[in-house]
Amino acid sequence: MPNASYWIALPPLPLREVGSAFVESLEHYVARTAWTAGISGNAVLSMALGSQTPCLTSASGLIGPSPLFATRLVALERLIRNPNLRCGTFYVLKDVLTGSALGKCGTQQRWCPECLADWDCQNSYEPLAWSIDALTRCPMHNCDIENVCRRCDAIQQLPCLYERRRFCRRCNYSLAGLGRQSRRPEYLHWIDSQVQEIVRVCATPGQEPIASGLHDELFSGLLRSARRRAIPPAIRSEMHSIERTRKSGKMTFRTLFNLCALQGVSIRTLLLSPDEATSEPMFDYWSGFHSLNCDYGRSKAKIEAFSYVCACLLARPEGAALVPTMMLLRAIKLNRDVARDRAPETYHGYESAYRAQASGSNRLAIERAFRVAKRCFANRPLGNGPIIEVAQVVYNQGNVSCEIALSVSRGQEWMERAYRAALAMHGHSALAEHAWMRMGPPERTALRGSGSSVQDERTTEAV
Ligand SMILES: [Zn+2]
Ligand SMILES: [Zn+2]
Repeated sequence: MPNASYWIALPPLPLREVGSAFVESLEHYVARTAWTAGISGNAVLSMALGSQTPCLTSASGLIGPSPLFATRLVALERLIRNPNLRCGTFYVLKDVLTGSALGKCGTQQRWCPECLADWDCQNSYEPLAWSIDALTRCPMHNCDIENVCRRCDAIQQLPCLYERRRFCRRCNYSLAGLGRQSRRPEYLHWIDSQVQEIVRVCATPGQEPIASGLHDELFSGLLRSARRRAIPPAIRSEMHSIERTRKSGKMTFRTLFNLCALQGVSIRTLLLSPDEATSEPMFDYWSGFHSLNCDYGRSKAKIEAFSYVCACLLARPEGAALVPTMMLLRAIKLNRDVARDRAPETYHGYESAYRAQASGSNRLAIERAFRVAKRCFANRPLGNGPIIEVAQVVYNQGNVSCEIALSVSRGQEWMERAYRAALAMHGHSALAEHAWMRMGPPERTALRGSGSSVQDERTTEAV
């Protein structure tokens, strides 16, 4: 048994707001305890775990669901003699959530600027709910939850010392301030309420962990009902992405919320009474279904750019081929799994349109031709000379038919235009830097700043 029988030098602070949707996160609790005792968070963990020298590398190592967290939690509860510390973690969901369910929120801080502005060391704390990125507004102040410094745009890594948490780690600017309210779709209000509900379930003292069979149970129920009725495409694509996580039996928060939306039930019903949740799905509500495909981390701009470019490409002029999905993703530097998870409708819509344009062997030729065309455009400013010049190179080097060479060259040109327009609209530093390296400064682009000019170009595009 670890150090529990030792006399310890830690103050037995209570975890704040146990049992409520605003419960303190254990990650913050450890930082607060360490600060009160004048030691580091790692020292607190070392005390709890005995001789081992633990290294706190992420918040999810304390609040879950990373693999180490349950051991740490039990040791901390024993050391501090407080069996309710688990209320500040996702312990209740430890068999349901994937290890990466928190995504970047497991390593990066999110905060409400107004909560930080009202900070008082006697009573304030960071709630567990902030670590779920689906929560977009502070439930107290109804302003946006933030995750970068307002002055220098730096992301704030966790873990962090208690006294440094309210200041930018790079430029020392205060993270507190007047809240902002960005425009957002209506259904995100509902998601916010479900985040609070899920935290309330986790924060309930004595709540048993949810059994790991939940996913299978829910999914079989859903499939049974779906087989009997026609399903709209948005739902079908969502069911595909839910099915992909089925093998492991574990889910992300996003999947949990989408299941609730599909079934028309609250997260509490879904978790605590899965039978009830799957018995009678509200299929009639599905016409208004929105899958939760928003990402508030770094990929947000890339997802927006991806959706925009896909829409442009699908509205391509006649006789232009569609770029292979992987080449499109690579151009935007977007991971395929992230695209599938965050923008399932766009991803599957584009992928099936791409596949529909040619049979298997022709698709290989098209891919080969696109690789040549891409190289041509890398060395050639847009609009410089007729497209037939590119088509000739593609024909010679790609070993494809004239028709393929021409349609691929048009397709690649269209892709370059859409990509540049997306850059101008969804300018994101990583994306912009990449484009700079690839194609020179965006100022030179023909389509700067508006989506409508893409449409205008189309009419002058006749080759
Ligand atoms: Zn707040
Ligand atoms: Zn800063």
